[in-house]
Amino acid sequence: MALKLQSHIERVLWDQHQISRRVSELASQISADFGGAANSDSPPPPPVLVGVATGAFLFLADLVRNIDLPISVDFVRADSYGSGTISAEAPKLSLDLKVDVKGKHVILVEDIVDTGSTLSSLIAHLESKGASSVSVCAFLDKPTRRKVHFQPLGQGKFYKGFECPDYFVVGYGMDFAELYRNLPYVGVLKPEYYK
Ligand code: 5GP
Ligand code: MG
Ligand code: MG
Repeated sequence: MALKLQSHIERVLWDQHQISRRVSELASQISADFGGAANSDSPPPPPVLVGVATGAFLFLADLVRNIDLPISVDFVRADSYGSGTISAEAPKLSLDLKVDVKGKHVILVEDIVDTGSTLSSLIAHLESKGASSVSVCAFLDKPTRRKVHFQPLGQGKFYKGFECPDYFVVGYGMDFAELYRNLPYVGVLKPEYYK
């Protein structure tokens, strides 16, 4: 097995430059949407950005550094994939929130939306905790693979970075068998490494 990371990649879909440009656009959009009116006396309560571990860790880190508002940051973990590329049925929540989201606007930050099953159960979970709205900010979306329809809660919105073709992608937080999360770009592995 070649050791250098880049030698495992067959094709780059989004490079570092494209990613950072798109992430700062998303952050500006969120800052504008959640900032409230400029002349309002009572500013809206700070939104809570909830990263879905582990895949969203780089996206969340880049996104929050570009959001020009007071915000809280937290994580949940939902296990839907094992070590491979096939989705399990219902994702299990294996790490819950620390921040109390009751009455707050939550933005769920995901690496990629595939079948939609993870997000739909996380939105229901946040609703049960009393969030007043739940938005979704997904770095990638694979709309052709959707099986479970999900909807943001209340006034929530759906932000997405890029539409992803139907490949199993790695990098920028996303893994294959817990490897490749540290790639600073998104790509497709050479077939011999999907084993
Ligand atoms: P869903 O519940 O929407 O089917 O799957 C969501 C999760 O599956 C994502 O958060 C991600 O962790 C994983 N996933 C889906 N597609 C891909 C992919 O192409 N590459 C990687 N590395 N993970 C994926
Ligand atoms: Mg994920
Ligand atoms: Mg994974």
